Amino acid sequence: MARYTDSVCRLCRRENLKLFLKGERCYTDKCAIERRSYPPGQHGQARPKFSEYSVQLREKQKVKRMYGLLENQFRRTFDMASRVKGNTGEALLVLLERRLDNVSYRLGFASSRADGRTLVRHGHILVNGKRVTIPSYLVRMGDAVSIKEQSRQSVRILSALEGAQRRGVPDWTEVDREAFSGRIKVLPTRSDITAPINEKLIVELYSK
Ligand code: SF4
Repeated sequence: MARYTDSVCRLCRRENLKLFLKGERCYTDKCAIERRSYPPGQHGQARPKFSEYSVQLREKQKVKRMYGLLENQFRRTFDMASRVKGNTGEALLVLLERRLDNVSYRLGFASSRADGRTLVRHGHILVNGKRVTIPSYLVRMGDAVSIKEQSRQSVRILSALEGAQRRGVPDWTEVDREAFSGRIKVLPTRSDITAPINEKLIVELYSK
């Protein structure tokens, strides 16, 4: 499967926003965006030109990168959102938030969404007691998401749980760190997603 292999900090610098792609490093002064808050590349410090299209494109790229998806996966999620009744942009964000790799990150089992994806793929995450290895799996209200018993002493998971105390967990979930388990209390809504996102621009871009 295709995947992005270049420096992820470049992505934050391109979007001029901390996308929190590198776990603990993002909270330190080693964060690349703290050191060089201008776009990467030869023309990074040149005055940017903004067209309507470029603004819409940047917004889409920002959200896609934030959730660690490639174009096809993102487009498929958008198509799914457009079949949901109501506001497509909001439905898109809710679908992204319900992904199991994101939920693993939100519950603090992983230090980033990419880390959450690896945990899921490697079979460390259980949903309602059953192993689920599909990062795009969409959690439902009432689902219990936990760490497999044999993985609970993993240094990676323990340090993610420790680091996550600073972040806290979103209101639509609850977590029992001692039990390595969390629950989806209700499905997330648009107001639960606090990152600066203007989803209307993404809908406009894909509606062209
Ligand atoms: Fe982005 Fe984290 Fe890199 Fe900072 S350290 S630029 S927030 S990925």
